[in-house]
Amino acid sequence: MPFSSLGLSPALLSTLVEQNYTKPTPIQETSIPAILSKKDVLGIAKTGSGKTAAYVLPILMNLQQSVLVKNRQANVLVLVPTRELAEQVKDIFKIFSKALPQPVKTLAVYGGVSINPQMMALQGVNVLVATPGRLLELLDANSVQLSAIETLVLDEADKMLNLGFKEEMNKILAFLPEKRQNILFSATLSTDLENINQILLHYPVVIKIADDELSLDLINQVAYIVSPEKKGPFLRHLISQQKMKQVLVFASSVQQVDAIVNKLCKNKIDAKSIHSKKSHGNRTDTLTLFKAGKLRVLVATDLMGRGIDINFLPFVINYELPRSPKDYVHRIGRTGRADAPGEAISLVSPDELHHFEVIQKKMGKKVEIRETEL
Ligand code: ADP
Ligand code: MG
Repeated sequence: MPFSSLGLSPALLSTLVEQNYTKPTPIQETSIPAILSKKDVLGIAKTGSGKTAAYVLPILMNLQQSVLVKNRQANVLVLVPTRELAEQVKDIFKIFSKALPQPVKTLAVYGGVSINPQMMALQGVNVLVATPGRLLELLDANSVQLSAIETLVLDEADKMLNLGFKEEMNKILAFLPEKRQNILFSATLSTDLENINQILLHYPVVIKIADDELSLDLINQVAYIVSPEKKGPFLRHLISQQKMKQVLVFASSVQQVDAIVNKLCKNKIDAKSIHSKKSHGNRTDTLTLFKAGKLRVLVATDLMGRGIDINFLPFVINYELPRSPKDYVHRIGRTGRADAPGEAISLVSPDELHHFEVIQKKMGKKVEIRETEL
């Protein structure tokens, strides 16, 4: 479904084109109409699935119908856990506000910087993006009022509703009018979230985009037929030919993982392993290096790979296929997101071909299989 069928105005549609948002992501497709019709929404979709625009676009649409008061009474409050996210969300609101006929003023407030400039800037703000601590300070100082809030958003709602923020959240909720639209977005549906959404949401529309369904569309999958003894050289060829800078390689056993790392290092390709025989400290160090982009190749078993919580990787390689189709989807799900498709490459030996057929059937997707010349 194109953005133009979702009920957005021409001004927003033209900014979407300008921003190269060609079509809505699954969470956007379902959330936008629900938020436009002023419903409470609980949206769950993995990191990178475009949750910000999923609420920013319909909120801006709805604000165009509101009478925007020009004092210290914001219309929309977005609560976020960190200063970085506050800035990011504010930027998205600004980008999409640009072309609107009725101007919308957005401000981000957060701690760790001086409060005075924020106090001054609050005049005439329509959309306030805030971390809870700083918002409470501003409320204490009477610099902002929340009595006109029409819409409350909790971004990264699982974090906003966990114990660390609980006291602050309760205080803030007491300032808000009871009649309002509540919107919660989160990458995970944690127990914190399940408990508190009963209090916070009135007959919410619950939208949950399954990880696998979503990520698969954003991943370019390809397989190469390679005999077991050629897999080592072919892996090195792939890494250098495609100039991979950060790649996660999966293999089936601890021994195999170590053998792959040895071979890569001998060939001067920077690689380390992560598996159950390594100490916890060693695994953490390796992972930190890899996440920081200071390690080119990380080779892992399925068990360890599951704990690798990196939001986006450009490349995942299956040196061998996993036994279960589920593990295959887990492995490749580490790559691909709305603005940057990832690549999942499988090295399939001739006797794994039948198993690969089974995996493709189970995931409901055909993968292009290429012959290799090596
Ligand atoms: P999330 O909050 O779900 O982790 P974000 O809202 O931060 O995801 O979006 C991730 C990236 O995808 C951003 O860079 C954003 O600009 C981009 N993006 C979002 N929606 C689309 C879309 N429909 N088309 C293309 N890129 C998009
Ligand atoms: Mg987000």
